[in-house]
Amino acid sequence: MFLIRAKHSARAVFPAHLMKRRLYFHLNISGQPDMTLSTYHTIQSVFCCCCCCFTVQKRAMRTKMNMDLDSDQMTQYSASQSHVSYACSWKCRHKSKLQSKNKPLPPLPDEALEDYTKNLRVIALYDFYARGPSDLPLKKSEEYLILEQYDPHWWKARDQHGNEGLIPSNYVTENKKNNLEMYEWYCKNINRRQAEHLLCQESKEGAFVVRDSSQQGLLTLSMYSQAKGSHSVRHYQIKKNHLGQYYVAEKYHFSTVPELIEYHQHNAAGLVTRLRHPVGSAGCSSPAAAGFSYEEWELNPSELMFLKELGRGQFGVVQLGKWKATITVAIKTINEGAMSAEDFIEEAKVMMKLSHPKLVQLYGVCTQHKPLYVVTEFMENGCLLSYLRQRRRKLGTHMLLSMCQDVCEGMEYLERNSFIHRDLAARNCLVNAEHIVKVSDFGMARYVIDNEYISSSGAKFPVKWSSPEVFHFKKYSSKSDVWSFGVLMWEVFTEGKMPFESKSSFEVVREISQGNRLYRPHLASHSVYKVMYSCWHEKPEGRPTFAELMETLTDITEVDNPDFT
Ligand code: ADP
Repeated sequence: MFLIRAKHSARAVFPAHLMKRRLYFHLNISGQPDMTLSTYHTIQSVFCCCCCCFTVQKRAMRTKMNMDLDSDQMTQYSASQSHVSYACSWKCRHKSKLQSKNKPLPPLPDEALEDYTKNLRVIALYDFYARGPSDLPLKKSEEYLILEQYDPHWWKARDQHGNEGLIPSNYVTENKKNNLEMYEWYCKNINRRQAEHLLCQESKEGAFVVRDSSQQGLLTLSMYSQAKGSHSVRHYQIKKNHLGQYYVAEKYHFSTVPELIEYHQHNAAGLVTRLRHPVGSAGCSSPAAAGFSYEEWELNPSELMFLKELGRGQFGVVQLGKWKATITVAIKTINEGAMSAEDFIEEAKVMMKLSHPKLVQLYGVCTQHKPLYVVTEFMENGCLLSYLRQRRRKLGTHMLLSMCQDVCEGMEYLERNSFIHRDLAARNCLVNAEHIVKVSDFGMARYVIDNEYISSSGAKFPVKWSSPEVFHFKKYSSKSDVWSFGVLMWEVFTEGKMPFESKSSFEVVREISQGNRLYRPHLASHSVYKVMYSCWHEKPEGRPTFAELMETLTDITEVDNPDFT
């Protein structure tokens, strides 16, 4: 028997009764589910894993080549050797420590040693500061042992000194020989535009990063060069010859990618310059964890510090703040009477478990006092709509397309978890310091108390973003989100224009019902317009899914913008 509630669909992924189980499906930052099923598994969790596996497989294959890179793509490389011996020495140290404490000791039972070696070993990608007594601090590059996987986001770990506690799973990566994430030059989850931004920020001759190519299963080497006095970022696809060897320059072939990188760190050999400064995950800020701690969604308001107003929305004022004087957050004050709070509080627990690099992370809520606070990840560049309007004619079409891809990725995650946004629009997306766009306010429309917003004839109802089945029958689905996504693409490619200009809701409904659609923005190529147009099919079943949209947008990136120089 398996519990799926259509409305609170995130539970389909990790139902509450399974939370404390040993769940060995990994939806960590690599995004590729690693199907290690432990003996603690229930039928439910196996089913869970399979669902996730099927749905993420396609996307993960394209965007990520890290944890579960096929061994035929990546054969052994030398760097792994040090980790193997390091792990061994840790094991030996651990054993000798035990012995010295309790002399005389019988030999360590084989079983214990076996269990110890069986557990997952990970390397910290970022420092993590303990936020509560149950957390274990992480130090970048150090190794940890995973003891329990409470849910996809919080794991129990042990450090090399025997300390145990909880860690966010997206701060670590598996310590295994074919995992590129262990290398400082590898940056997963970034596209061409983000790589360029990262390298230009570094602005050093020979600064480089290796990322997943927009072409499925391939890697791209992006490097910054000041050759001949002009600054540029070049993109080289790492190719494979018929013998399975990797190369960027025709004459120099290597059996592994790390060997290739190491060679070109010493020799330009066909590249514009040698690879001098790795700019990998170190250049990216640490990701948002799913909440401040495992299942800690109720926050103490006395631990919040309010710094300045960021904006005002449907529910009230949004302020920049700090949690426990350390973590920068955005705090949304919910005005009394603006929200059906009880329903939201219940749902907040589910929403906190939604965690993806392209979703604005919900950290927690303060519900014990009035007014209610909603605490989220802070996004330095504010709302997407203002961002677009403030940068008119400054953002190239590659950048515009890449922003649509960001939103599409976040929406694909919601679709995969059967979570409906209901109010997707540029005003409900935010942009961070690295110019990555993330989807915000997902599902929040359900808790608004304001007839002007709720009623489809109300002045605040987002008719211009709504599909026919929504403005006629309030029938929301991931496919009605797809319609809104098409309108969002239109907003992006018009650099923040108002769809249907000053037309009234009544006129918009009439236009749409007559089969008219928004025009092609002049910055949108025909292929880009075709994508947004496909989202406006009258019938939901005629529209693409977000997973399909991601494929199409990637194809367009390749054609309009080949991923190599
Ligand atoms: P509401 O959900 O109450 O309608 P919004 O989410 O639209 O409020 O927020 C209002 C404004 O506050 C946004 O347009 C944006 O400028 C700012 N804001 C909201 N959330 C954040 C955040 N997480 N980081 C930075 N700015 C934010």
